[in-house]
Parts: sequence; structure tokens; C-alpha cells
Amino acid sequence: MAILITGGAGYIGSHTVVVLIEAGYEVVVFDNFCNSSDKSIKRVEEIVGKFIPLVEGDIRNSIDLEKVFENYSIDAVIHFAGLKAVGESVAEPLKYYDNNIHGTAVLCEVMQKYGCKSIVFSSSATVYGDPHTTPIQEHFPLSATNPYGRTKLFIEEMLRDIFVADNQWKIALLRYFNPVGAHISGVIGEDPNGIPNNLMPFITQTAIGRREFLSVFGDDYDTVDGTGVRDYIHVVDLALGHLKAVEKLHTFESVMAINLGTGRGYSVLEVVNAFEKASNKAVPYKITPRRSGDVAKCYADPTYAKDVLGWEATRDINQMCEDSWRWQSNNPNGY
Ligand code: NAD
Ligand code: UDP
Repeated sequence: MAILITGGAGYIGSHTVVVLIEAGYEVVVFDNFCNSSDKSIKRVEEIVGKFIPLVEGDIRNSIDLEKVFENYSIDAVIHFAGLKAVGESVAEPLKYYDNNIHGTAVLCEVMQKYGCKSIVFSSSATVYGDPHTTPIQEHFPLSATNPYGRTKLFIEEMLRDIFVADNQWKIALLRYFNPVGAHISGVIGEDPNGIPNNLMPFITQTAIGRREFLSVFGDDYDTVDGTGVRDYIHVVDLALGHLKAVEKLHTFESVMAINLGTGRGYSVLEVVNAFEKASNKAVPYKITPRRSGDVAKCYADPTYAKDVLGWEATRDINQMCEDSWRWQSNNPNGY
């Protein structure tokens, strides 16, 4: 029995492959490499000392997926495959609706055909829109402020409908907060294409000299120092959350939406300070206007994850920064 990891060559997927293999699971990675390459999986093989089955294919293509279900006995799917750049989703919404929503529909159809009805889905804290208060609990109202967020919301709804139609399905909607960090080996990590949108890769690329300075998007929010506050979570903790979800899926009697965060928020300047301390590198920055669509504060109430999955994040901001820096300094230009 194996677990199919769609998008397994990507940032969170590759770390989850390591955790699953170390826990004794068999995995099959499925990816079209639109935002990754097979290099990450070669690196994962170095870490775990094992061959990892890797299938190149697109989740929108049922023939590609059916080959996997024909060749392997798939028990459950962890579904990471998707496009995730907010700005691009605003510019090219149809690309996002096609890849993320249509792709997930095709995946579920093929799963159904082969009697595989267990899925862990990569959702996001973006489904809470601009939260009325923090920390954020799973029952808070949902909304979307851009096409990327709308794909996550719609897929959550699609998966709920699939469960209503057939309650043999076991479905976890994992709502990630802000994944950062890298495997402690420094061999795998986040390798964004082009100019990073996210804070941590922008910081590490500034520290290594690939960017001149970090733009801090606004210092007039109602937060500890005026800069935006987020719940940064170490990618290995996040990966361990997926392991727990896979282990607990069979006990779920309804679709479970679960926050994966630490419960602690850090401002942009707090992250910059923590990074400078952990790396011993300066991160020049300039305060610039707010980025449109950003919220002041976003951090999780992680209680439900602890109750339902027996999981909580254990890696702190210092470790997140140390591991991000190890990856970046060992791999100045990524993979
Ligand atoms: P990533 O881009 O590194 O990984 C996604 C992988 O999916 C890539 O390897 C890409 O090549 C693959 N992929 C995309 N479309 C595909 C398709 N049609 N068929 C096959 N493979 C396809 O991104 P990540 O940061 O690892 O994110 C994984 C998932 O988690 C995504 O669904 C993302 O939306 C979600 N998520 C990420 C974050 C974050 O900040 N990184 C936060 C919340 C949710
Ligand atoms: N941010 C910033 N400069 C950057 C990138 C991000 O000041 O170059 C801020 C952003 O405004 C937010 C926080 O860092 O307050 C996290 O942003 P990111 O894009 O990483 O994640 P988000 O929570 O927006 O998905």
C-alpha cells in the first residue's frame, strides 16, 4: 500500500515525502514539474537513502493519473499539486481555476474510479480572508480576496460535496499558515521561481546578496511594531502534521478542516531580527507602502489540531531561521 503525493517534488511535498518515508510509509510522487524539478526528489533520496517512485504527469490528465493507480496500490492521496502565486492568480485567473479546481476534480474522479477515497488536501489560512479577530479558529467565516484563495475555498466545498454524496470518503482540509524553514540537512528547501513573493525566501536571498534590500510592506498596521504579523510554521512541523492526518484519516466521520500553525504570530521586523541573529548576516530593509490585499494579523488557534491529530508544532522561530539560512547558504541559487 502506498500514499500518492501529488506535487511531491515541491517545497512542502518534498519535506512530507521525507517524513512519510522515515515513518515507514511507501510513497509515489506525482508532479508535472511546472514549479519544481526532479532534483528535489533526488535530494530526498540522498536524505532517506531509498529510491522514490516518481511519475511525471499532470493532475488534469486522467490518463496520467490512471497509470499510477494501475501500477501501484494507492491507499490515500496527499494532494499538494497546485499553483500558489496570489499575484499571478489575479493576472491569470483561468489558469488557476483550471489547474487547481479542474485538476482536483479530475484527481477525485480517478480516485473514485479506483476505490481510493482518502485524501489530505493542502488548504490555506487564506480561506479566512480578513479575519475579524485572532487567533483564528476553524469555525470562523470563510472568504477569499483573490482567485488563488477562491480556488482553495471552492476545492474545500467540492470535497465537502463529495463527502455528502458518498460518506465513505475520508477527507482532511489542512489549512496551513506560513510555511518556512527547511530540512535540517540543508539539502532540500524552498526554491521559488523568479523574485520571491514570500517573506522568508526574500530575506534569505537578500542575506546571500541576490537582492539589494527587503521591502517591508507597511509599518502602520495595528500590530506590535506596525508591520504585518503572521504565524510562521516550520515546514518539517507541517510535514509531520500531514503524517498525523494520514494516520488519523480512518477515524474521521466528517470532513475535517484543521489549522496547521503554531499559535504565535511574529511581525516582519521580528522575523528580520530573528533571522539576523540566527544567520549572523545583515538584512538591509526599507519600509515601503502596504501591499494590497495584506491583512494586519493572521495567526492560528492550533488547539483543534492538537485535539484531533495529537499534533503541535515544536520548532521555534530561531530554528526556522537557522534552517532557512542553511538551505540558502548551501544552495545560493537553489536546486
Ligand atoms: P510548490 O509550488 O513548491 O509545490 C507544488 C507542486 O505541485 C510543484 O512541484 C508543482 O510542479 C506541482 N504542480 C502544480 N500543478 C500541477 C499539476 N497540474 N499537475 C501536477 N503537478 C502540479 O508549492 P508548496 O509551497 O509546496 O505548496 C504545496 C501546496 O500547499 C499548494 O497547493 C499550495 O497552494 C498549498 N499552500 C502553500 C502555502 C505556502 O506558503 N507555501 C501556504 C498554504 C497552502
Ligand atoms: N512581506 C514583506 N515584504 C516582502 C514579503 C512579505 O514585508 O517582500 C510581509 C507581508 O506584508 C506579510 C508578511 O511579510 O505581512 C508575510 O508575507 P508572505 O507573502 O510571506 O505571506 P502571506 O501571509 O502574505 O501569505
